[in-house]
Amino acid sequence: MKLYRFVWIPVLGGILSSCAVHIGNAVFDVPWWCIGVPTALVVVLSLYFTGKAVSEREYVCGFCGAHFSPKRRDMGFLLHDNDRYVLKCPHCKKRGFCEPSYKNK
Ligand SMILES: [Zn+2]
Repeated sequence: MKLYRFVWIPVLGGILSSCAVHIGNAVFDVPWWCIGVPTALVVVLSLYFTGKAVSEREYVCGFCGAHFSPKRRDMGFLLHDNDRYVLKCPHCKKRGFCEPSYKNK
């Protein structure tokens, strides 16, 4: 397991250590979960729907021209430029921008 995957834990701990909500001039101390739970929910839902939308399409590898559908578990945090996504081709194993395939439309 790569250690850089756990960098978010101290970052999240630092963010959640001070939970003060400012509304106008008033400052309210709120429990950490009032901010952490909705934030985690938004992140999980956005990853779910992004992964679903991307994995339902077919992409064309820019190196070998193979058509493939990426697996949902590989979606994570993908770099993208409009419709083009940085994906790893299952055929040539190279990672690069892949155009969506419009063959089945
Ligand atoms: Zn390829």
